[in-house]
Amino acid sequence: MKIGMSHGAGGEVMQNLISDTILNNIKNKQVNGGVGLDDLDDGATIPLNEYEIIVSTDGHTIDPLFFPGGDIGRISAAGTINDVSVMGAKPLALTNSMIIEEGFQRDDFEKIIKSMDAVCQETGTAIITGDTKVIEKNKIDKMVISTTGIGLAKKGEVIRDSGLNVGDKLIISGSIGDHGMALMAYREGFGFDTDLKSDTAPVWSIVEKALNIGGVSALKDPTRGGLANALNEMADKSGVQLILDEEKIPIREEVKAVSDMLGIDPLEVANEGKIVMGVKAEFADEILKAIRKDKYATNAQIIGEVVEGNKVIMETVLGGKRILESPVSDPVPRVC
Ligand code: MG
Repeated sequence: MKIGMSHGAGGEVMQNLISDTILNNIKNKQVNGGVGLDDLDDGATIPLNEYEIIVSTDGHTIDPLFFPGGDIGRISAAGTINDVSVMGAKPLALTNSMIIEEGFQRDDFEKIIKSMDAVCQETGTAIITGDTKVIEKNKIDKMVISTTGIGLAKKGEVIRDSGLNVGDKLIISGSIGDHGMALMAYREGFGFDTDLKSDTAPVWSIVEKALNIGGVSALKDPTRGGLANALNEMADKSGVQLILDEEKIPIREEVKAVSDMLGIDPLEVANEGKIVMGVKAEFADEILKAIRKDKYATNAQIIGEVVEGNKVIMETVLGGKRILESPVSDPVPRVC
């Protein structure tokens, strides 16, 4: 069997490749009883004395490198910072490994580095080590960036994507589908003419505001596979059922329009500056109020609640109910 595009797309096909070929062939997958590879969380942890070191890594191959609302540099820094953030830890440092195609424009390279730096400055994250390699023309596509993020949390304060409890409320930090649909629209030739922009942004400041209030049970960034994938993964790992109110899920009009035109469900495409939170019901309103003060979460909403069961159920605008499934693969490849 050969590896196809769907094997990297964040859906069920990729999950199967990960469990069959990666997890089954690696023996040591955990350190000191921390969160390890088998947990398939946004990051891993290494418990050490009264702390847990958070580690997360991500490779970025994105087409095009520059897109409305960001570029590969912004996404390479924000994406990894976000995976550390949703473990409930402040992202302290990044590593940066870049593989560049021969002939790459030096000006573009500089723009990309400056974009990474801007995101890091926003979150107080340092880029502390890296690697640069160049490959002959046509052997790779322009540029691949891999970043690893390191964060620190007090022992016992790490947040998991599996931490949902019955009774929790679900909060989304803002509008859904912006990144995937912006890239798709751009590739389809709508160019920079539409108002559609990627939401690529670091979410640490949102997480921090929520943690300061307390009552956060679970966190996840709905990247590849979109909100549909993130919610199904959280429900599955937590052993609970989610009831969503479709009306409350914020989706921009431009995103809806492009989604309709291309026949792509905005709930199944990547977001790069959003988080899903499960919070204890008594904290939900206060957390919502606090995070709405963040410039990246002004449109945050309570979108549903956690009940007993094992599905993700959407109560539709029309008053019906439907099961929200995990997408088989991402309908928009190479977006992060
Ligand atoms: Mg993630």
